[in-house]
Amino acid sequence: MSETIRVLFLDRDGTINEDTGSYIAENHQLKIIPGAAEAMALARAAGFRIVVVTNQAGIARGIATVEQVEEVNRYLNELLSAHEAAYDSCYYCPSHPLYPHPEYDRYKDCRKPATGMVDRAIADFRSGGYEVDRSASFFVGDKMVDVECGMAASLRPILVRTGHNEEEVCREHGIVPEFIADDLYQAVTSHILA
Ligand SMILES: [Mg+2]
Repeated sequence: MSETIRVLFLDRDGTINEDTGSYIAENHQLKIIPGAAEAMALARAAGFRIVVVTNQAGIARGIATVEQVEEVNRYLNELLSAHEAAYDSCYYCPSHPLYPHPEYDRYKDCRKPATGMVDRAIADFRSGGYEVDRSASFFVGDKMVDVECGMAASLRPILVRTGHNEEEVCREHGIVPEFIADDLYQAVTSHILA
């Protein structure tokens, strides 16, 4: 008998940490958005598992290495842990359709808006004896691809106005998230846990 869990899927850059406008390859470039760690701590305390889902095509483009991305992800969790806000797991997609790479092209189905990373996270939870209730789980991100990924994965999509703030882009494309929040803190406190 498996246990049913709710998951808060989070984009990384522009949602948890400031989007610097280029790929984050070094720990010192990582700056957590005000309130983001507090929001994650509240969600955890309410029973949500937290999974980070991030496109990191800088790897296929040769701008960042796998080691750098994994180190930044590890450091991010170190910072979050100090706020009782650690994530449970983090999935990153190294590939990019415009930058073919023999080693990373097999991961093409993972690049958001595709749902490969979400599906893998859910399969990994299942292997551990946990069944994810998609209809009670959320996907929060700052870009239209995050909203599209959440929708395609049958999660509840939320757009945040931090980072790239693609509210206008979503509107132009008729992509309608369930909720639009100023930031992750408002998404969690005014909607997810409200
Ligand atoms: Mg983002």
